[in-house]
Amino acid sequence: MTAVAVPGNPLMLSVLALLVLITVVAVIWHVRHRGQKTQVWTNRAEEHDERLKLALWASGEQFWDYDLAAQELHHTRVSTSAVDDQPEITVERYGLDELTIHPDDLPQVQNALRQHLRGATPVFSSEYRTRRAEEHSWCWVRARGKVVERGPDGRASRVAGTVRNVTDSRSAEHERRIAIEVLRNMDEAVAVFDRDFRFISVNPAFTRITGHDPGDVLERSTSVLDSSRHDIEFHRRLRHDLLRDGRWSGELWIRRRDGDEFLCLLRITSVGERDGRRSHYIAVLNDITDKKRAEQELRYLANYDPLTGLPNRTLLLERISAAIVRARANHTRIGVLFVDLDRFKDINDSLGHGVGDRILRAVATRLHAFAGPQQTAARLSGDEFMLVLENIASDEEATSASQRLIAAFESPVTFGDGQEVIISPSIGISLYPDDAQIASELIRQADTAMYRAKAVGRRTSMRYEAAMDADVQRRATLSAALRTVLDRNELSLAYQPRLSLSSNEIAGVEALLRWNSPEHGQIQPAQFIPLAEETGMILEIGKWALIEACRALATWRDAGLTELTVAVNVSSLQLLRGDFPQVVERVLEQTGIPAHRLELELTESVLMDNPAEATISLQQFRRIGVNLAIDDFGTGYSSLAYLKRLPITMLKIDKEFIDDLAEHTDDAAITTTIIAMGHSLGLTVVAEGVETSDQAQWLRDHGCDEIQGYWLAEPMPAAEVAKFVQERSARGASTF
Ligand code: C2E
Ligand code: MG
Ligand code: MG
Repeated sequence: MTAVAVPGNPLMLSVLALLVLITVVAVIWHVRHRGQKTQVWTNRAEEHDERLKLALWASGEQFWDYDLAAQELHHTRVSTSAVDDQPEITVERYGLDELTIHPDDLPQVQNALRQHLRGATPVFSSEYRTRRAEEHSWCWVRARGKVVERGPDGRASRVAGTVRNVTDSRSAEHERRIAIEVLRNMDEAVAVFDRDFRFISVNPAFTRITGHDPGDVLERSTSVLDSSRHDIEFHRRLRHDLLRDGRWSGELWIRRRDGDEFLCLLRITSVGERDGRRSHYIAVLNDITDKKRAEQELRYLANYDPLTGLPNRTLLLERISAAIVRARANHTRIGVLFVDLDRFKDINDSLGHGVGDRILRAVATRLHAFAGPQQTAARLSGDEFMLVLENIASDEEATSASQRLIAAFESPVTFGDGQEVIISPSIGISLYPDDAQIASELIRQADTAMYRAKAVGRRTSMRYEAAMDADVQRRATLSAALRTVLDRNELSLAYQPRLSLSSNEIAGVEALLRWNSPEHGQIQPAQFIPLAEETGMILEIGKWALIEACRALATWRDAGLTELTVAVNVSSLQLLRGDFPQVVERVLEQTGIPAHRLELELTESVLMDNPAEATISLQQFRRIGVNLAIDDFGTGYSSLAYLKRLPITMLKIDKEFIDDLAEHTDDAAITTTIIAMGHSLGLTVVAEGVETSDQAQWLRDHGCDEIQGYWLAEPMPAAEVAKFVQERSARGASTF
């Protein structure tokens, strides 16, 4: 500036001119240079724009820019042009009210933005559902952004960032998370391993089931699970088949970490790479030990009796059928023995079902021991057992086996804590091929023969005969005929007198049922009464007998026999009917018979069947005034202590003891005891089935009160009773 202050100097002037020139040149250069620079910048900006556009296009991101003051959102989207497949930019502008964010997500978006604007977060980031006006379904987007401009007061005025549609990746992620959760919660063990059979991952159930933690097995060979129950060849083949087929499934044993082994159901499938090569295998293991055990138990239950462990009917049939095949080939016989325990029902009822079960188990053990390992002992039901004896040479061999079996039951059966009971079997025998060719038929025949063994007095065996079927048939026919017996008036009563040994007078008569069938002839009570009891007909028949006997007594009383009593037999079914005492009371009223002129005869088994109910009925009868007799005494199980508790008035000693009075000292001793015992309880003692004068004399000598039997009189029609009683009375006390 000092130079400018010296004008007129030519040197100075030329320097000045040079300076001006330089300045002008500089200015011109500068201006031109600036133009060039602007061009470069413009070029560069365009290049950047292009790059940004391409990047946005390729990445699928969109750009947004939010003007807070104007509350406007600019949205820059790069899509593929439908015309030339090139990126195409669209810029959309929305007012805040035009933005559609899912109402559930909106609070979260607003919160994230607020946080960022406040400076609490370095970036705004949020994932939410949004939808365009024209679209119905929501899509998930992930938006990120940042404050890019602030006002003079430092408050954010503009936020910009990118947004991206994450619907697909989100659902893939969602599915992946579900898959992981499923794997984690699966009951089945899942293991992933590679082509070299090395574990890559395992789920918690795998650890639970095999005992191996992931740390123990990852990158180790799957052979840690190999069980010694399969040989090396098995495992080699499994691996070979898996590599060849890409899948394998089957049952196999697996070794646990603690060395225990369990059976599992294994399914392995391969997971392919994109190029189709198999890279991984997924193994799903199910512990089926329990299932197998349950299956085995079911199979056991289907074939074995749970109480005794013996084969049941199903397995028995199978065994007999298999035995038949062998017997046919070897030309041998099979003996099928139907074994039924005698009076087991009495034992069960008197000692209780718990004891009954223990006795059945003890019997099963004895039968099993008798049969030995080569033969079959089975239980059909209740107290019915079966023995199958193979390689029998003859009929006699089967019979002698049955006798040995009866002998084997002579020693008491021990059950529970050393308690003992003597129990005898009744046995029915049928033979293959003599009697039948098929299993079910052999069993049926042996059953029929067993019934016959029971009928002839138990504790014995019977060989099946074809005639027995006729018997069974007859029972069925009689049973049917019995239903109409009252309507057709085919029943009658016969009366058997009883003599008082002290007064030599007829004390009473016993009413005995008679069935005269036009089709079947005279049928014995021993035949039809059990049938009537089985079918329940005995209720009606018994009531009929009661009324009929009381009516007969009323006519004899009218004829002057007022001291006479009538005895009526009562079966257990009648006694158990709660209203039986009322029925009796009504009948007495209707016929005008004093209660103490009626006696009811009950057998020991009737009382033992249901002691509690029976006792109640008996007490009601005693209140009415009816007399009660125990029939067939000595054949059942009643003890003196039990009798003492019952309100009975009379004991009838069974014919079995009377028969052999003279020669058999045992029976004589028993009879003497019963008489003494009866008297000590204040009971009238009657001897049944007295057939000879010697027996009558013996009984009189031993203090028996009354006798009944053929020696005195056989049962007679009602019409003959009055005459018989009067004649006997007329003979006087001297004639015996
Ligand atoms: P129970 O009550 O013991 O009757 C005595 C049975 O012995 C009668 O057989 C009788 O005829 C027979 N008897 C009498 N004295 C002699 C004798 O000296 N020698 C022989 N060998 N037998 C003699 P019955 O009439 O065949 O009756 C058999 C059984 O049928 C009776 O035995 C009784 O338990 C039952 N019963 C008969 N009538 C009825 C009835 O109305 N209701 C019920 N529930 N059972 C009846
Ligand atoms: Mg009787
Ligand atoms: Mg009797």
